[in-house]
Amino acid sequence: MPCDYSIYPPNWLSEIRPRILARANNKCEVCGNVMFFQDSQLAHRICKSKMHLKKYGKEIIHHSLNLALVCGLECNSAVNIGNNPMEVEKLIKRIEDSLRG
Ligand SMILES: [Zn+2]
Repeated sequence: MPCDYSIYPPNWLSEIRPRILARANNKCEVCGNVMFFQDSQLAHRICKSKMHLKKYGKEIIHHSLNLALVCGLECNSAVNIGNNPMEVEKLIKRIEDSLRG
């Protein structure tokens, strides 16, 4: 499925992706594969479904704490916590705290 960048924030490619790449040391956060910018993927721990976007808002869904650098689909699904309500709640709290600064 091609990426639909229209639902991403405007600084997705210019700021967010480079920031996550640097944070992860250019390595897949699941399996440790080394990656380059062009073949890196960012996985959303709480996936960016319309329902979640509506419930939590873009600031939370596209927050760097909700993102992980991954090398492919398998590692992408490994970081998904959408089916674990406790984890979701904890992560939302961490993001809200960090947004409040
Ligand atoms: Zn991987």
